[in-house]
Amino acid sequence: MTHKDDCIFCKIIAGQVPSEQVFEDEQVLAFLDINPINPGHLLLIPKEHSETLLETSTEVLCQLMSHVPNLARAAISAVGADSFNLGVNVGRAAGQVVFHTHFHIIPRFATDSHRLWGGQPYGAGKMQEVGSEIRQELGIRN
Ligand code: AMP
Ligand code: ZN
Repeated sequence: MTHKDDCIFCKIIAGQVPSEQVFEDEQVLAFLDINPINPGHLLLIPKEHSETLLETSTEVLCQLMSHVPNLARAAISAVGADSFNLGVNVGRAAGQVVFHTHFHIIPRFATDSHRLWGGQPYGAGKMQEVGSEIRQELGIRN
């Protein structure tokens, strides 16, 4: 996995790699994604390196989340978008490429025709089975 010395986002935080920054405080940084899904696509990251959301403290996750509404409103207004998606890819199979925790704030246009979701219904009894497995993992009695 990625050590912070080889981490592109840690280098952005340190000012060693250029970025188009829009917000910063002691704990977090927001900057434009270099390959945006739509214009105004932001990445919001903690300054403290962690590889994925699962290794990020609850406190830091709360700090990140607290900035999402303001940043999303600003990005939507700036590019004239209609709404936004908040996304977090956790692990390679989920599409995570940069192993420094980050939230994607992606402005969406009614006309952009991106399809991020395409679910299928469960087969008979399967939803209850999966629900039961997850409750067991959570230590909640069925
Ligand atoms: P993910 O697939 O969730 O790991 O997303 C990583 C994102 O980081 C991608 O959308 C990339 O376009 C973006 N990215 C990678 N390097 C840079 C960089 N130097 N500056 C801005 N965005 C970057
Ligand atoms: Zn990092």
